[in-house]
Formats: sequence, structure tokens, C-alpha cells
Amino acid sequence: MEKSAKDILDSYIEEQGKRKTPERHIILDVVLKMEGHHSADEIYAMMPEKSPISRATVFSTMSLFDEVGLVYSHQVNGRTLYENAYKVEPHHHYICNGCGKIWNMKSKTVFEAAAACRTPRFKKLRSSLYIYGLCDACVARLYRLKKKMEKEREAKMTREEKRFARIDAELSEAAKWINNIK
Ligand SMILES: [Zn+2]
Ligand SMILES: [Zn+2]
Repeated sequence: MEKSAKDILDSYIEEQGKRKTPERHIILDVVLKMEGHHSADEIYAMMPEKSPISRATVFSTMSLFDEVGLVYSHQVNGRTLYENAYKVEPHHHYICNGCGKIWNMKSKTVFEAAAACRTPRFKKLRSSLYIYGLCDACVARLYRLKKKMEKEREAKMTREEKRFARIDAELSEAAKWINNIK
């Protein structure tokens, strides 16, 4: 019979000679129901109302769950994010460097590449790949910021600088045109 997440946790705690506490089970219940990837602080905010669980307990318990393999942990923009790993296949992720959001990767190609990747004198257990970049919202924000900076720079330019900037733009237009007819 398949072991429940609670059994996995309890036998680990027993092996380690740690104390069994009801708090850990409450936190486990929250984590098992949790969708997506969350920091320990976000998980703390998900605790049932009036539960006696402290922020420190949530933090130490998340490290414990990570040790046991009940969660996957990810480093994102200097934060540790957790996701439920019980009955969840290991998977790859992509991360936005702008806002720090993380998504599960659906691409089969990456899974197959990671599985096919040869690792001489090394036994593969599982793989976790991250692709870093910018999400659409952050690209739009960057574009707006660039526009704003360009405008501010333009406002500070002298008449002569503006004239040269225009000539420069015309030259690069001409270069494009020349390249096209080649
Ligand atoms: Zn983003
Ligand atoms: Zn994930």
C-alpha cells in the first residue's frame, strides 16, 4: 500500500528521534492542498485561523519537509519557494527575473532532453531545470521604462545633440536600406 504523506513524515520524524507535533500535521495539510509555488511567509498566511502555529515553526517545518522530500524548493530572486511534491512528478520551471514569478514547464522537449542527457560516472536521480527570462508583463514594463528614459534624455539634450541624434537615426535607416538591396 502506498504510504500517505503523513506516514512518510511520521516515520522520518521517528527515525530522526524528533518530537511528533500536531503543528507539523496542520502545516502538512495546508501544503498538500496548496497550488503553485509559495514562500514560507505565504504558507504561514495560509494557516488556519486561531491555529497556534508560529512563523518560526512554519519556516523550520518547511525545511524539514524539504529534507523528507514532501516539497520541492526553488531559489527565486533570493527567496525560497516551496511546492507540494507528494504525488507530484518532478518537473522543470521557468522564472521571470523581473517579478520573480515561477511557472511549471509543459514542454516535452526539455523533459526528453534531460532524460537523454548522458552523465558519465554519475547516477541520475531526477532533474530540475530553470529557464530565466522576462514575462510579458515585465517586458511591457521594461519597454515603458525605456521610453520614459529616452524622453527624459531627449529633454536634457542640447539643440546640437538633437541634430546629431537625428543624423544618427537617418544613418542607421540608410544602412538598413543598403542591407536590404544587397
Ligand atoms: Zn515578470
Ligand atoms: Zn513547480
